[in-house]
Amino acid sequence: MSAKLIDGKKVAELLRKQVRDDVDFWVSDGRRRPFLQVIQVGTDPGSTTYIRAKTRACEDVGIETGTDRLPDTISARELKQIIRGYNTNDKVDGILVQLPLPSHLSSHDVIESIDYRKDVDGFHPMNVGRLTVDQPTFRSCTPAGIFELFKHYSIPVKSKHAVVVGASNIVGSPMAIMLSRENSTGKATTTICHKFTKDLTQHTISADLLIVAAGQPNLIKGEMVREGVVVIDVGINRVADETSEKGYKLVGDCHFESVREKASWITPVPGGVGPMTVAMLMKNTLLAAKKSIYPEES
Ligand code: NAD
Repeated sequence: MSAKLIDGKKVAELLRKQVRDDVDFWVSDGRRRPFLQVIQVGTDPGSTTYIRAKTRACEDVGIETGTDRLPDTISARELKQIIRGYNTNDKVDGILVQLPLPSHLSSHDVIESIDYRKDVDGFHPMNVGRLTVDQPTFRSCTPAGIFELFKHYSIPVKSKHAVVVGASNIVGSPMAIMLSRENSTGKATTTICHKFTKDLTQHTISADLLIVAAGQPNLIKGEMVREGVVVIDVGINRVADETSEKGYKLVGDCHFESVREKASWITPVPGGVGPMTVAMLMKNTLLAAKKSIYPEES
């Protein structure tokens, strides 16, 4: 078997078109455009690239943006003061603090200082908590984007065995929550693995759906999965490549060729999950502007 490719670029473009149409409709009777405020601390080149992709996507769908580029010496107090300013600014719908932050800043502390009603990344404990109890919420963009891929390709999730490799707060954990909820999205039997999991293969080999978000190139090889598995490779890793102009190439967490031989569906890296994450951010920002998740109190 050679897996069919899940084309995240194509599906993301469809989603973006939907958001673009919705934004046009939203502003058609005089309402202001949705506004996303991005905050970068430091000059990490990876963060700069991600922010560029996100702000370009905003432009593309008609969402306005502002980007603060703050020095990596900024104190937690100063940073949170800036965030509080955006929390109370009625013209700002969504606030995104690009992670990772420099080591002297606690990402938990900083994320919690964002008004949860503007937390379009879906990382605030309020939004994560609501996710776990099936309440409307800003769903973390990467897992939400993966669910859009399942929907687009009619990949069944209910009653399947889903295995998530990686348990971070931004990808693995919310992915596992969404897969496992019996009253909302997933309805799958879900196993979550992390760096303390003994004998990873024992789990991955029994997966119908395998979602890998570990940040470890070639972690999953063909012999670790079974025939027909659906593989979602979230990993984005830079590995040295002398043949490329940049001196590196991007690869996922799976050994693509050997896993593809066994799988029925697989996401490529790049062009799989990444574009979906950005598209879901656009969707969440529009939801924030419309106050769809948290309607204003009357
Ligand atoms: P992280 O470092 O915060 O978490 C990694 C997780 O993987 C941890 O739970 C860790 O325990 C687990 N892990 C590490 N080594 C393991 C091993 N050998 N076996 C089993 N589990 C192991 O990373 P993250 O922020 O969750 O990101 C994971 C990857 O996904 C990274 O490559 C990141 O660049 C990528 N990512 C991609 C997107 C996207 O849109 N495509 C979005 C976010 C993150």
